Amino acid sequence: MTATATWQNWSGSVACAPRRRAAPRSEADLADLLREAGRDETTVRVAGSGHSFVPLCATDGLLLALDAMQGIVAADPERREATILAGTELHRLGEPLLAAGLGLANMGDIDRQALAGAVATGTHGTGPTLGSLSTQVVGLRLLLPSGDPLDCSPTRDPAVFAAARLSLGLLGVVTHLTLRLLPAYRLHERTWALPFDDCLAQLDDLIAVNRHCEFFWSPPDDACALKALNPTDRAPWTAPAPPAAPAGLARYLGPERVDWSHRIFPSDRQRRFNEIEFAIPAADGPACLRDLRALMQRRHRDVAWPVEYRTQRADDIPLSPAQGRATVTISLHQAADRPYETFFRDTEAIFRHYRGRPHWGKIHYHTAAELRDLYPHFEEFERVRRQLDPSGRFLNRYLRDLLLE
Ligand SMILES: Cc1cc2nc3c(=O)[nH]c(=O)nc-3n(C[C@H](O)[C@H](O)[C@H](O)COP(=O)(O)OP(=O)(O)OC[C@H]3O[C@@H](n4cnc5c(N)ncnc54)[C@H](O)[C@@H]3O)c2cc1C
Repeated sequence: MTATATWQNWSGSVACAPRRRAAPRSEADLADLLREAGRDETTVRVAGSGHSFVPLCATDGLLLALDAMQGIVAADPERREATILAGTELHRLGEPLLAAGLGLANMGDIDRQALAGAVATGTHGTGPTLGSLSTQVVGLRLLLPSGDPLDCSPTRDPAVFAAARLSLGLLGVVTHLTLRLLPAYRLHERTWALPFDDCLAQLDDLIAVNRHCEFFWSPPDDACALKALNPTDRAPWTAPAPPAAPAGLARYLGPERVDWSHRIFPSDRQRRFNEIEFAIPAADGPACLRDLRALMQRRHRDVAWPVEYRTQRADDIPLSPAQGRATVTISLHQAADRPYETFFRDTEAIFRHYRGRPHWGKIHYHTAAELRDLYPHFEEFERVRRQLDPSGRFLNRYLRDLLLE
């Protein structure tokens, strides 16, 4: 096999030259590719939309993409569930789900990810009663490194299911997933700006009364752009003008509006950046943010990118950053063409103090030993991984270091 064109992630922070790239059109094609890779002892990785900032997808072996395996297999409004092909990009889901009378319970900032890619890293939005996309999965099919299928759910191979809900693509290739959904609903979106101290003073109340609340703190303005989303029966509507705002926050403030949930959740992220994000115990969120703000004001005045603050409920997924604790996530960004390591390492020292757990798709410098210490159920995941992929066919160097060193 000869090397094919270089693969790159969204921000440009990761590139690799796989020996082979393939986009199977069916489960049977995929099984053949996996069996062939097994015979050749080739390492396999699957790429979603390449929106992770770290080398999860990188390989010099076989790189699979499920771009040709998209769409809804079955939707059941009575059970509030739908089975969806793993390669389906989230922005292709909203309208067909709406046609079936269904909607996702929550979404992150964008809708460009592939469903299996977003689930594999625990992609999340905001809301203290809501979990990540991984928590919305109620069943899935894996093609194991051998090419054989394995269906799992809370009642069928529950240990595999628990691990597969957030697997970093380490257990095999997910071909379809069944999600628990809500009856289709509309959201009312409001955004507004507040000085930093006012934002923090009101934060507990804002988080308690809004189904979704988040904010961006803009360092140059020392002000925050808040966003609150709540379900409503009102008809779709958009106010004539956005609220007034400091220059650094204008991008995060839009006109008040009402629309179907999948049209409200995602934002546009045109400017490329790199990102670090940690999940910390919810009660420590404000103190941690104050420490990060002091650090940026003291040492990193050149970073103008807003810092994002969100909430997530506790869950029971072994590798979930929200496992066992109500969570606040704080994300910091730097332009994709600027160095980030010194800045990110400095922020990580603060996150360490709060026993923060890194987002698996974003940049961090934690070692395998530190991760084991942060995740009480780490070994349960490892046991399933060793059982399903005993020869480490789905490990690349980054993941080997991350999990095993
Ligand atoms: C602009 C931007 C905004 C973002 N916003 C958010 C946000 O709001 N909230 C949040 O939590 N994160 C956010 N992220 C991070 C992003 O959601 C995650 O990194 C997510 O994993 C990316 O999905 P992807 O489809 O691009 O997956 P990739 O990055 O391509 O892959 C991620 C992982 O999924 C695995 N994978 C993909 N498909 C399969 C499959 N079929 N079977 C098995 N494994 C598979 C890959 O091997 C890899 O390990 C954002 C990233 C960017 C660039």
